[in-house]
Amino acid sequence: MKPAVPEHAAPPDARTRRAIPPVICYPPETLPPVDLPALRAAREGWDRIGEVMVPPRDARCFEVPAGHFFRVTSVEGAQVGDLNLWNAGDLNERFYSGKTRALHGTHLSTGDRMWSTFPALRPMATITEDTLDWYGFDAFGCSVHDVIGTRCDPYTHHLLSHGGQYHHCCHSNLTRALALAKGIGTDEAERHVHDVLNVFMCTGFSRDTGQYITKPTPVRPGDYLEFFAEIDLFGALSACPWGDCSVEMTSPEVSCHPLLVEIFRPVALPAGWQPARVNGYDRSHGL
Ligand SMILES: [Zn+2]
Repeated sequence: MKPAVPEHAAPPDARTRRAIPPVICYPPETLPPVDLPALRAAREGWDRIGEVMVPPRDARCFEVPAGHFFRVTSVEGAQVGDLNLWNAGDLNERFYSGKTRALHGTHLSTGDRMWSTFPALRPMATITEDTLDWYGFDAFGCSVHDVIGTRCDPYTHHLLSHGGQYHHCCHSNLTRALALAKGIGTDEAERHVHDVLNVFMCTGFSRDTGQYITKPTPVRPGDYLEFFAEIDLFGALSACPWGDCSVEMTSPEVSCHPLLVEIFRPVALPAGWQPARVNGYDRSHGL
């Protein structure tokens, strides 16, 4: 149990120390630029080459070649989704939620990128459209499409429910989907499942205690989040058992809906565009 009040007296200069203004750790203008108009122009006349319907409380995998687009669309009813991305040629390179958060902030929207793990650290996908960008940050400090949560999982459920066994948390949904798609066991698949982009989820940190908070998602059928694949991608999306997050996760009132993933092939790529290259650090680490 945490103490109710601080156990240590503030130093005499506490006010001065607290009053120092913060700085942005990673100024976004220092990142490689995104040519959003050029990417969007590549949508002109594109072909829809595939779709995957993700059933409620389950997950499905999909592939997106480099230079293609994919959309995650709300269908039938408000629903949040948990997205994992891998390098299609090497599952060890996967979405790096923590670094993406450091680079772009707690929530992603148009122009932001999903970055991959070390040592590649390169953009995997660039967000080219977000129909929920109007939401911004609300009075509670919450916004949409976070990279601050992890994914609901059966281990935390087991802890908090004092022994419960539940198999349709996003972690297990993603594990099953990856195992089935790759023909591998759940033990191996689980090692590749990672912290997600919480698509359509509305979250934040409480201002007074810094705790992870969530609200009903503002998504409505027809809303979508669209990505441009910067490398060959293998993806998995779980339609979270929390549905639209409007009631307690364990409530029998939770209603869940499918999510649609669509893949699009552009007629022509932006001039000069190349798949993202792996990071140029020499990896000698000073030794
Ligand atoms: Zn979930």
